[in-house]
Amino acid sequence: MAESLTSPAPGAVTARSLSHPTPGWQQAMRASVTDVETLFSRLALPAEQLDAARRAAALFGLRVPESYLARMTPGDIDDPLLRQVLPLDAETIERPGFAWDAVGDLDSTTGDGLLHKYHGRALLVTTGACAVHCRYCFRRHFDYSAHHAGGSRMRQVIARIAADASLAEIILSGGDPLSLTNDRLATIGAALDAITHVRRLRLHTRTAIVLPERIDAGLLDWIAARRARVVVVVHVNHARELSPGVCARLRALQRAGATLLNQAVLLAGVNDSAEAQIALSEALFDAGVSPYYLHLLDRVAGVHHFEVPEQRAIALMRAVAARLPGYLVPKLAREQAGDTAKQVIGVA
Ligand code: SF4
Repeated sequence: MAESLTSPAPGAVTARSLSHPTPGWQQAMRASVTDVETLFSRLALPAEQLDAARRAAALFGLRVPESYLARMTPGDIDDPLLRQVLPLDAETIERPGFAWDAVGDLDSTTGDGLLHKYHGRALLVTTGACAVHCRYCFRRHFDYSAHHAGGSRMRQVIARIAADASLAEIILSGGDPLSLTNDRLATIGAALDAITHVRRLRLHTRTAIVLPERIDAGLLDWIAARRARVVVVVHVNHARELSPGVCARLRALQRAGATLLNQAVLLAGVNDSAEAQIALSEALFDAGVSPYYLHLLDRVAGVHHFEVPEQRAIALMRAVAARLPGYLVPKLAREQAGDTAKQVIGVA
């Protein structure tokens, strides 16, 4: 049975949640590594970097699920999966041109959790919770408490979507919408399915990759039950993130009826080589996922050390395009505050 639209914000403990057994994925999410000491000890990382990691984690907390940790190589400080979650001193250094709200989210929000930037689609900030904390996150400074569509704001948001017939697609985002319980998703899905001009529901998720347990039977049923077409846009940055367990769950999503796309971020020290991008596209396609976007880094305060200059990104993607069929070459793109669409950067 689904919750009502005015249910408490996700994560709140209620009489109902107490009377239901906790699903395995929620237990796995709670068991994530959230302190740098454990991360350093589990991966045998150099102790001299511990203080810097503590300082950076004080600005943006550490969170790594066990399933993702298990894919890293102990002792390798340069592991491309570790680089995405390891707090570094560089995050504490301010750089000109790197802002708190780099993509103009605050100018596009309606104050109740709906971000309406582009024609025909709008993004619903369903929760502030994520299964992993990516150090390069473009919303690492976003005030979710003021801008998510939880609690009583959801009814207001649904009414606004119903009143705007131009909205053919609603994007469930966050945070990560797969941090929500299946009951909460059922409520939101039913409300959106009842709005006939909403033809597509899109989910943006990294949880499906870092915590594959989240793709459970209830979620697959939810996808299969939707009137609107479901598009799941996963976030995979490196081929090694696609473990056999993740690939099996992605295939289950596809069998349930979801169209699967990937959006990645081009990150220095993680995937900034033609070889890494080719391996990623090949692995994605093997798992039934089409490479869709490769984003240039959003210039958010604290992430400058991940930036790959645009000219190098273009050269890199030219090398990729020379070796792969077109359908395996993601569009190199940039998002800029105030634009009416993402800017696709030509590599020809
Ligand atoms: S999963 Fe997405 S929203 Fe969450 S921390 Fe990573 S990049 Fe940010």
